[in-house]
Amino acid sequence: MIPYGRQSISQQDIDAVVQVLKSDFLTQGPAIPRFEQELATYCDAKNALAFNSATSALHSACHALGLGPGGLLWTSPNSFVASSNCALYCGADVDFVDIEPETGNMSVDVLRQKLEEGEKTDKLPDIVVPVHFAGQPCDMQEIKALSETYGFRIIEDAAHAIGATYHGGHIGNCEYSDITVFSFHPVKIITTGEGGAALTNDEYLHQRMMDFRSHGITKDEQRFTNDPDGPWYYEQQELGFNYRMTDIQAALGSSQLEKLNQNLARRTEIREWYDSSITDLPVTHLQIASGRTSANHLYVIQTANPKDRLLLFQALRASDIGVNVHYIPIYRQPYYKRLGFRQGLCPNAEEYYSRAISLPMFPTISEKELLQVVNAIKANVE
Ligand SMILES: *Cc1c(COP(=O)(O)O)cnc(C)c1O
Repeated sequence: MIPYGRQSISQQDIDAVVQVLKSDFLTQGPAIPRFEQELATYCDAKNALAFNSATSALHSACHALGLGPGGLLWTSPNSFVASSNCALYCGADVDFVDIEPETGNMSVDVLRQKLEEGEKTDKLPDIVVPVHFAGQPCDMQEIKALSETYGFRIIEDAAHAIGATYHGGHIGNCEYSDITVFSFHPVKIITTGEGGAALTNDEYLHQRMMDFRSHGITKDEQRFTNDPDGPWYYEQQELGFNYRMTDIQAALGSSQLEKLNQNLARRTEIREWYDSSITDLPVTHLQIASGRTSANHLYVIQTANPKDRLLLFQALRASDIGVNVHYIPIYRQPYYKRLGFRQGLCPNAEEYYSRAISLPMFPTISEKELLQVVNAIKANVE
């Protein structure tokens, strides 16, 4: 089976991990700050914090921005459930902003309309989470401008998008957001096994997320509220979690980061190859908007109608091609239905989902495998 996504692990990655295993620190050692510094430098952000997943980074980001009961977070329905679950962890409510069909990203027009309505009904969001779907940045300048009018904060869910650029800057520089979150799950662009990161230019948010990642404990004597009992003293000042990444993972992350640009170049090549190979077929693909480069995490095609999607999906799986579908609109999950969400909330996301298939997209896919994918599509459409 050719999978839809696959990690690339080199001998250098293996050596980096083994070196940590033979060292004094498996966790809370020097590999973590090193990886964080490299991430911050790559993305041109002031601070990066490593987490044990993007999910825990999103939770920490929401907490740092003060989201709590009575709060409201808006995100895209065309995403993994973690993009909205982070609000529920904080006891806040969520709502969804429909997508633009050409890119699969949150529609700025729908967002603007929803904000205008929200202002009248007193239901404005505290936080908006744009998701850079398939690796393509959302229209961050527009979203940032709206945040200034309506007073919400922004967390970029960039789980798909490390290495993507928006008007020349790397996603993660937080030029248009408070915090940006990456995922290092093995199907994503680079991996640490499980893992994630939160980047910010704001010292206060950085501090809040750092405390939250480790039980709400601080060892910074400047911030102690009581007199220290001695040099061993630390304080738990609020309720946090253990959301830490290990040094084993961070060493893998540093090694993976070295090959990120190479990885991205190969993904671009694969996207362009798919784009030109399917031009004559009755399927469409997503468009890249101007001023952006995609990290090309996913390559999505759409059939003419939902029935063809099911047939093509089944035929490709039967030909040992591990296609997938991204995403079932989040609010259609049974858990979200129980919260009161109903089908029809975001018509574009539902229409998009009904015809979408993600083709295999990973740097080590061979030319022969790519041909196999396109030939199987050819044999099963029309
Ligand atoms: C994978 C993913 C996440 C969650 O990442 P984990 O590291 O698995 O927690 C969040 N948002 C999006 C859009 C994702 O694709």
